[in-house]
Amino acid sequence: MNQNFNSIAIDSTFNSQKSKSISLRNSTTAERVRQLEKLQDWIKSHLEDIRKAIYADFKKPYPEIDASEIFVVTSEIKHAIKNLASWMSPKKVSTPTPMLGSKAHIQYEPKGTTLIIAPWNYPFNLAIGPLVSALAAGCTAIVKPSELTPHTSALIRRMIEEIYEPELVAVVEGEVEVAQYLLSKPFDHIFFTGSPAVGKIIMKAAAENLASVTLELGGKSPAIVDSDVDIQDAASKIVWGKYVNCGQTCIAPDYILVQENIKNELIEAIHSKINEMYDPKIKGIDESKDYARIVNDKHLKRLKHLLDDANRKGAKIAVGGKIIETENYFEPTVMIDLTEEMDVMQEEIFGPILPIITYSSIEEAINYINEKSKPLALYIFSNSKNVSETILTQTSSGGAVVNDCVVHFLQNELPFGGVNNSGIGKAHGHFGFLSFSNEKAILEQRVGLTPSKSLYPPYNFITKKI
Ligand code: NAD
Repeated sequence: MNQNFNSIAIDSTFNSQKSKSISLRNSTTAERVRQLEKLQDWIKSHLEDIRKAIYADFKKPYPEIDASEIFVVTSEIKHAIKNLASWMSPKKVSTPTPMLGSKAHIQYEPKGTTLIIAPWNYPFNLAIGPLVSALAAGCTAIVKPSELTPHTSALIRRMIEEIYEPELVAVVEGEVEVAQYLLSKPFDHIFFTGSPAVGKIIMKAAAENLASVTLELGGKSPAIVDSDVDIQDAASKIVWGKYVNCGQTCIAPDYILVQENIKNELIEAIHSKINEMYDPKIKGIDESKDYARIVNDKHLKRLKHLLDDANRKGAKIAVGGKIIETENYFEPTVMIDLTEEMDVMQEEIFGPILPIITYSSIEEAINYINEKSKPLALYIFSNSKNVSETILTQTSSGGAVVNDCVVHFLQNELPFGGVNNSGIGKAHGHFGFLSFSNEKAILEQRVGLTPSKSLYPPYNFITKKI
């Protein structure tokens, strides 16, 4: 078979991790903490290398790299180190009356060999964050970074090779064919972050080996803006959440549902916040050092298509719209007069286009969301507790934030993930540890005590009452 990658090397890494994973079953808290500290130390002593690699991939501003790629990972490591002993300790459960005399507990066993497949949009954070959970849980891992961010992929490979023996953690770089080859190996768990379309391919491949999966996917995350709101506050938070990383954020507000009587005021506020944040000296946002670029020309074309298709079908650009193809530059853009036939209202946008649609009643907004796939995140901007409670209890989403957006990713006491089309399973902190652990149920019976004896044949009872 003609292939551009070394399948023999992958086989050998997988086999060595398989053996290692058995010896890791009884690894101690101290041993796992040591592995996490090594990762922490490398990151802290190579900050400039990490920044340079990510910047080279899509001109992501250094402060955004520090906050959304490096800090997120180091805080995940810190949190795991602090809590690992408690996460690993067996949890006793109480004994129901028919089981009196026995004892039972849950033991957290490492799942074993794991595969982590990462996307390009937060190329460091989304490859290394799950690795922290895998190491905390006592698993081995093969990490496949995205091929669309080659500088970060090479850096991750160098980092892992400098820290770990390949039987514990290895990086396999490459494109789709490499991912598919990796997926043919019988991993115990696959942690995938990427699009719902590829998530389905991952789940089918995992089914061949009945590997468990965590699927961190995407979709259209709505932001609802109620008329009882502080418009300036909502606009600032929406502009930051939408345009950070040039809109290439899985939990960015994909579109806005605003109560119709405040639509114009909201658009004005969003416009002025865009200028305040990205163009304070009125030189043009393309001059701003604080605004990232689209990852490649394929994605720029995809976004340009969304804009052109909507324009052709009657939508209008209310703010922005400038594109510089040679620089993969796409200005922060707001669109109005949208209809459901437009691709921008059907596909996940994953870029700096913000469609604004209106509703007249909360019920209408709720129905609109419930007719679509369950989103990864849902944002509510409202001063009314009643409005936010109504929306929270009548919609389904992976996560939800009231009066802010995106920041729930940083709260590592909360599970992070989607529901159905936006994902299966959860990440971060304790929830990430659990994703990589088998919650083994252990029941200890006393010798000579057989409460179940009455169930043995020959049967001489008829159940009268259940
Ligand atoms: P993608 O699904 O195209 O690719 C992700 C990874 O899968 C890459 O490493 C790629 O090499 C691999 N891959 C691609 N096609 C494959 C195939 N046919 N078989 C096996 N592997 C394959 O996603 P992307 O474009 O890198 O990222 C964007 C998507 O990721 C968006 O939908 C976004 O919402 C989602 N995302 C989700 C989260 C989250 O935490 N839920 C975070 C970031 C991004």
